[in-house]
Amino acid sequence: MNQHKPIYLDYAATTPIDEEVLEVMNEVYRETVGNPSSIHYEGRKARDILERARRRIAQMLGVAAGELYFTSSATEANNWILYAAVRDLGVRHLITSPLEHPSIVQTVRFLQQQYSDLNVHWLAFDDWGAPRLDALEEILSTVKDQTVLVSLMHANNELGTLTDIAAVGALCKDYGAYFHSDTVQTLGYYPFEAPQYGVDFFVGSAHKFYGPKGIGIAYIRKGIAVRPLLHGGGQERSMRSGTEHIPAITAMAKALDIAPAHRPEKRRHMEQLWQYLQRRVDEAMPFARCLHEDLQRCHYKIFALALPDEPEFELAVLRLDVEGVCVSGGSACSSGAEQQTHVSKHFFQPKGKRPLRLSLSHRTTREEIDVAIETMQRVFAHIG
Ligand code: PLP
Repeated sequence: MNQHKPIYLDYAATTPIDEEVLEVMNEVYRETVGNPSSIHYEGRKARDILERARRRIAQMLGVAAGELYFTSSATEANNWILYAAVRDLGVRHLITSPLEHPSIVQTVRFLQQQYSDLNVHWLAFDDWGAPRLDALEEILSTVKDQTVLVSLMHANNELGTLTDIAAVGALCKDYGAYFHSDTVQTLGYYPFEAPQYGVDFFVGSAHKFYGPKGIGIAYIRKGIAVRPLLHGGGQERSMRSGTEHIPAITAMAKALDIAPAHRPEKRRHMEQLWQYLQRRVDEAMPFARCLHEDLQRCHYKIFALALPDEPEFELAVLRLDVEGVCVSGGSACSSGAEQQTHVSKHFFQPKGKRPLRLSLSHRTTREEIDVAIETMQRVFAHIG
């Protein structure tokens, strides 16, 4: 039984809110009573706070404030962008990977049902799950006179694999395709200047970088004429109705603002833990394979393991939880039923493997890793 305080190694799923960020959020909750759509003093005050947060976020991401829209989540932002690309921009070729986040994969599947003339191209991926850029170019060259959207994420949330989105952006530019990137896992962790990547759309979510849950952003490049997903009171320049969550928006700006402070030290610490994990897994769990050999093509916060696909796997993952080690076993709980993720099905199972993801924070300690390794070694012993 669990002898220690639970060890949280699931920071790719969500991060706790930073104290400094929480303070800002509480202060805005306490001090700001107005609705930014009201024209009286309190409304104007709220509007000013909202627009200051928007300008700060825009400045940090290298975009114009007018290109950013606040949403309830990155899921909403991804849905909106894909929907709008097909409905409003006339996209009839959508190129993406089967390993994208469900908010992409499921939306694409829904759009396929709605638009019978929509051609979806599911890209082949390499041994690490990165979309193959040669395959992308081949498709782009065959559809080049048509309206095309490429949607590829920056870092895969289950594998950690990074996609060279600057190269994708350059290809899209060459072939005149729109480019959308789900940058949820990398915003706040890597310097991000949108123009460098040639993106037309990208999305973010505050709870992945020590901000509050339930607030996201959609970037839509100026001049791209899309219509709203939500209709109503005309907030967000009539593009996303619904009263803005000003405390959460201000907190998201604060979280993004403080992310670069001490980033090199935080990153070094997490990279050292990542390498330590790799060493310890090799020593203690010879039946497990680390997906990545080095950090060059992998997010330094995500450590993915492949384990043998044995019937006892799921029970062992459950035991890890009982023993107080919170990691992700490639299953998601949606509507009360636990299901293997599509990444587990498409990427690991064809190779006779099952995934285990440990994801790190700058707060993670070596001691926590040691306990996690000792527990994994014990609960998975009979699998190897
Ligand atoms: N995209 C990626 C890559 C994610 O990891 C997540 C969250 O798990 C999302 C999108 C959805 O973000 P949100 O929780 O804001 O809906």
